[in-house]
Amino acid sequence: MKAELINLFQKTYGRLPEVIARAPGRIEFIGNHTDYNGGAVLGAAIDRGVGVALARRDDGKRNFASGQKGGMVRLGAADVARQIGDDAWVNYPLGVLVALPEFGLKAPEGFDYLALSDLPTGAGLSSSAAIELASALVYLAATGQQPARETVVKVGRHAENHFVGVPCGILDQGVSGFGLKDHLVAIDCRGPKFSTVPLPAGAHFWIFNTHTKHALVDGLYATRHRECMEAAQGLGVGLLADVSVDTLRAAEGRLAPVVFKRARHVVEEIARVSQTHAALQARDLAAVGQLLTASHRSSQTLFENSTVELDFLVDQLVRAPRVFGARLTGGGFGGAVMALTAADFSAEDAKKVAEAYAASFGAAPDILHTQTGDGAALL
Ligand code: ADP
Ligand code: MG
Repeated sequence: MKAELINLFQKTYGRLPEVIARAPGRIEFIGNHTDYNGGAVLGAAIDRGVGVALARRDDGKRNFASGQKGGMVRLGAADVARQIGDDAWVNYPLGVLVALPEFGLKAPEGFDYLALSDLPTGAGLSSSAAIELASALVYLAATGQQPARETVVKVGRHAENHFVGVPCGILDQGVSGFGLKDHLVAIDCRGPKFSTVPLPAGAHFWIFNTHTKHALVDGLYATRHRECMEAAQGLGVGLLADVSVDTLRAAEGRLAPVVFKRARHVVEEIARVSQTHAALQARDLAAVGQLLTASHRSSQTLFENSTVELDFLVDQLVRAPRVFGARLTGGGFGGAVMALTAADFSAEDAKKVAEAYAASFGAAPDILHTQTGDGAALL
C-alpha cells in the first residue's frame, strides 16, 4: 500500500508525501449491542484498510484527493463547513481536523492529502473509522505531536459522532486503533479500556455482505436502545452490564415481555463475551464458534435485529464443513454475516453458500476472505 500511495501522490500532486499512515477495517467478532449497555465486545482488525499520505503546504490551502473518488476537493484553512454531495467523503478527514483542537491538539494548516483503500466502503467493515484514524495519524505526525493511542481513537470517534453525524460506538475506532495481527481487541466499553487477546492460529474470517438494509434501521436502533435503558431502569441499575444472568432471570416478571427479551440478549451476550475469552485462552476455536452462532440465535429470537437474509446465511454456513460458527456482525437489521472458519475453508465453499443465497434472494452477497491485521500506524 505504501508504494501505491507514494506513486499516486506523486501523480496527483507532482511531489512526494512527507508522512504516510494506514489504519485497518474491523469486524465485530462478538458483543452485539453491548457497547451502549456498558458491556464488553471483541473485535478484529482485519488485513485491509485505508492509507493516507500527506505533505504540508505553505499557502494554507488544503487539497483532498482519494483513489476511490474522482476529482479534488480544494479548501482554504478557514473552510471547515460540512461538505455535501460528491464531496461529502471529505467530512471524515475534515471532521478529524476539526476534532483535534477539542483534545488540546494542533491541526496542520495547509496540506495536500491523499487517501487510498483496499477496504470496501459501506460494507460494515468500518472504512470510516479507518480513514479517520489514518488521517489523524498523518495530521499529528506532520505537526510533530504524539498523543496516546487512546486519544487518537477518541479523536476519530468524535469526528464521526459530531462532524459526520453518525452515532457509532467505540468499537470501530477502538479496534482500528488497537488492532494487532493474530489477536482480537477486547474493549470494556464503560472505560473504555482496550486490550488484545491472542487468536489461535488457523482462524480465518469470511464476510458475506448482503447489501440489504431494513428501511427503518435508524428507528429500530433507537427503539432497541430505549428498550435496553427501560430494562436497566426496571431492574434498578444504570446500565444492563450491571445485571448478572441470574439476577435478570429472577426479575423476569418485573419487565414487559419484549423488554425482558432485549435485556436477556444483552446480558447473555455480555456473558458470551467472557466465555469467548475463556475459549480463546483454551485455544478452542470450536467452542468459540459455538458462542458466535449462539450470539446470532439470540439476535434472531431475542433482540430481533436479524433478518431472513442473515438467518439464511448463518444456517447455510453452520451446516458447511470447516466452519466453526457464524453470526451477523454489526448492528443488524441487514448488513453482513461473519463466519469463523478453519484455514481450509475455500473460495469454492464460500461460493456454494453464495449460490444458495442467490437462488433464494435473487442477488449474490459480496464475499470477503480476511484475517487479522495490525492497528493504525505510520508507515
Ligand atoms: P463503513 O464504515 O461501514 O465502510 P460508512 O458509511 O460508515 O461505512 O463509511 C463509508 C464512507 O467513508 C464512504 O462513503 C466515504 O465517504 C468514506 N471513505 C471511506 N474510505 C474512503 C476512501 N478511501 N476514500 C474516500 N472516502 C472514504
Ligand atoms: Mg462506518
